[in-house]
Amino acid sequence: MKKNTRNTKAKAEILKFINSSTRAVSHLDIQKSLGEFCDRVTIYRVLERLTEEKSIHRIVNVDGVINYASCSSCAAHHTHNHVHFSCINCKELSCLENNEITLTLPEGYQFKEAFLTVSGVCKECVDRSLV
Ligand SMILES: [Zn+2]
Ligand SMILES: [Zn+2]
Ligand SMILES: [Zn+2]
Repeated sequence: MKKNTRNTKAKAEILKFINSSTRAVSHLDIQKSLGEFCDRVTIYRVLERLTEEKSIHRIVNVDGVINYASCSSCAAHHTHNHVHFSCINCKELSCLENNEITLTLPEGYQFKEAFLTVSGVCKECVDRSLV
């Protein structure tokens, strides 16, 4: 297979995986899902590309690990200033789109992306512990 064809295929597969996941996924999740199909560097490059194209956005979890979530629910302007919730129990990372932070940057500063993560226990884990 030619390199370009493989990269295009990798991009499509990675985007499909992220979009089909209900939670944010890490580099490792992607690597596990795609198996031998992609090496680390290819995945890294594809993720960079998809982020630039605003197909996905980055989220940092409470452990400082970067995860990726689909942009299907993003507003058209992709400001990515919503809060994320990181479950300390199951490690699920989800977008809290209704919680947007309004930032006031000093004059002349340009916004790029914000990593705002709240840690706690998700509903599923709370429900499970009550059973
Ligand atoms: Zn977005
Ligand atoms: Zn949980
Ligand atoms: Zn998000």
